[in-house]
Amino acid sequence: MKQRPLFPARLDLSSGRPTPVRAASQPAPPMHSARAPATALSPRLAHGHGPDSTAVRRSMVLRLQQQGVNDAQVLSAMRTIERHRFVDSALGNQAYEDTSLPIGLGQTISKPSVVARMAELLRNGAPGKLGRVLEIGTGCGYQAAVLSLLAAEVYSIERLRGLHDKARENLRHLRVPNLHLLFGDGMLGYAKGAPYAAIIAAAGGEAIPQAWIDQLAVGGRLVAPVSAGAGGIGMQVLMVVDKTALGVRQTVLEAVHFVPLKSGIA
Ligand code: SAH
Repeated sequence: MKQRPLFPARLDLSSGRPTPVRAASQPAPPMHSARAPATALSPRLAHGHGPDSTAVRRSMVLRLQQQGVNDAQVLSAMRTIERHRFVDSALGNQAYEDTSLPIGLGQTISKPSVVARMAELLRNGAPGKLGRVLEIGTGCGYQAAVLSLLAAEVYSIERLRGLHDKARENLRHLRVPNLHLLFGDGMLGYAKGAPYAAIIAAAGGEAIPQAWIDQLAVGGRLVAPVSAGAGGIGMQVLMVVDKTALGVRQTVLEAVHFVPLKSGIA
């Protein structure tokens, strides 16, 4: 395995730099401590959601299990990360419903069931944590926070400056030293962090960019939505790509609906 890159490093197209998300001024227990005190995971919901979000998250996780999510690490991460902190206060009371929600600039946070499904596919039953993971499409930062509990290091790229900044703000309350937020065009991947044990895209293009395949480690797995067939406007399927010593194996899964993968930054 290559050594992980030294930080701060710069993303070629970006004026920003990878930003390990650090704790804000208020003390918060590290997310990765074996068992954080209950108070850390059951704060008062900031958005008039009632006194305690832990129970709501627990029932969300029960629903995920009923929908077929089995991976204990994924279920635990979904139970831990407070989704209501990543959406607008007006939408706070919908945060634990299985629905995608607007996060600004025409983008959406994925449904919890889709985040869990993709994370489960990405982990592929690995006994421990994943190594380095690349996420394309940070959005509000929710999925990045979930991934940070499942991987040694997470690099998450966003092409919209407004959302990159919002994600950093949303993540400020968490102590996530293994999550690096990048501003840039994720279609190019992030070569400095390669090779990745796993790559996950939260936006769907016409095809999987070659850079992602190149930056995937042998033995690594990529999960991404892609447009289904020529002329299939709006139709997407979830694609799993496994890179082996013998080559690349693609598996097409269920139909999905993601925002479009776009090139360049804005
Ligand atoms: N995982 C996110 C989902 C955000 S929606 C969350 O938890 O909120 C997908 C995101 O992908 C959008 O914010 C969109 O701006 C971003 N995106 C689209 N094309 C991109 C690209 N080429 N590089 C980086 N981000 C991209």
